[in-house]
Amino acid sequence: MEEFECRIVEKGTDEEGAFVVLDKSVFYPDGKGGQLGDRGKVDGEKVLSVKEKGASVRVYLSHLPKTDIVKCLLDVKRRHTISALHTAQHILSAVLEDKFSVVTVSFHMSEENCTIDVEPVSVSNEMLEQAENFANEVVFANLPVKKYFVTVEEAENLPLRKRAKVTGSIRIVEIPGVDTSMCGGTHVDYTGEIGLIKILKTEKIKKKFLRIYFAAEQRALDAFREKSYILDSISNQLSSGEKEIPDKVEKMLVEIKKLKKENKKLKITFLKNLVLSLSESEGAFIEKEVDLEKSDFMSLLAMLSSENSEKIFLIYSLKNLLLGVAKGKESDLSLKEKLRDFVDGFGGRGVLRDNFAFVEFKDVKLFKEALKYINDNLGE
Ligand SMILES: [Zn+2]
Repeated sequence: MEEFECRIVEKGTDEEGAFVVLDKSVFYPDGKGGQLGDRGKVDGEKVLSVKEKGASVRVYLSHLPKTDIVKCLLDVKRRHTISALHTAQHILSAVLEDKFSVVTVSFHMSEENCTIDVEPVSVSNEMLEQAENFANEVVFANLPVKKYFVTVEEAENLPLRKRAKVTGSIRIVEIPGVDTSMCGGTHVDYTGEIGLIKILKTEKIKKKFLRIYFAAEQRALDAFREKSYILDSISNQLSSGEKEIPDKVEKMLVEIKKLKKENKKLKITFLKNLVLSLSESEGAFIEKEVDLEKSDFMSLLAMLSSENSEKIFLIYSLKNLLLGVAKGKESDLSLKEKLRDFVDGFGGRGVLRDNFAFVEFKDVKLFKEALKYINDNLGE
């Protein structure tokens, strides 16, 4: 934290809360030039947000200070990370444009991500890797990041990456031999402070732009740490070295596909045999508890209702609270009529057709009552 003594020149409350305006520009505003704003404390109160309103910068706090002279603390670690990310963006954009004619159209920084949108959308992974290498060469060379003001006339002779119509004095940020930009944001003093620039992933935006996610400074370390942790945990779970993970996962996926196919076959055989044994059971009303998941339970119901039989089948799973009734094709009974109250009356979600009924319960008490109800209405 860096300390400043400031005078409050304005204070009040607007739709965003209580704010103060300071006589010094201690805190950089949120979102200005695509970058994150500063945080810290004013008179011991945490800075909640910093917004540029017209010519002044409002610093939002939960309570307004009582005195007009206040001690302000700037979170310099956060400021440095933001400055490093911003400077990294200058380098990455400059390298992409110089070496590959890929133009940056916008820049965005949030608490989680840092992105640039570039054009054209067709940037190969090899290109990105090369751009990343070039950008990091600039970082490792520890070049100075110069900031100075020029007049509009002087700016015309500078090799600016982007030109915007402005009046008055223009702030220039120059990394010699790499980039010269008009920029009012915060930057580091030497490129070495960026530590590392790492492209994390890309995403196509409306088939027009490529969004490049990147990290630098502490965020690059955090991203590396997070990925290492994930890789480590997968490696432990699979009991395999990190380099063997892709091969191992591929083999596992092939094996899973094979097992699923085999399992499906076995299930069909099992259900067919179950239908056969139920159809051949003694009596007109057959009751059977089964240990099946919902999808298999439904298949069994469908199979029973298409049997050439006069029997009524009541099947249920106490474990999964599933209850179903099916009648064979040769039965004249209408389940719809006979069990009119069944679905609605028992608070479950279900279906009622002429040839089958099904309800899934959440509550074991209701399930048991329904089971008794079916037995009373349809049983012998
Ligand atoms: Zn900048």
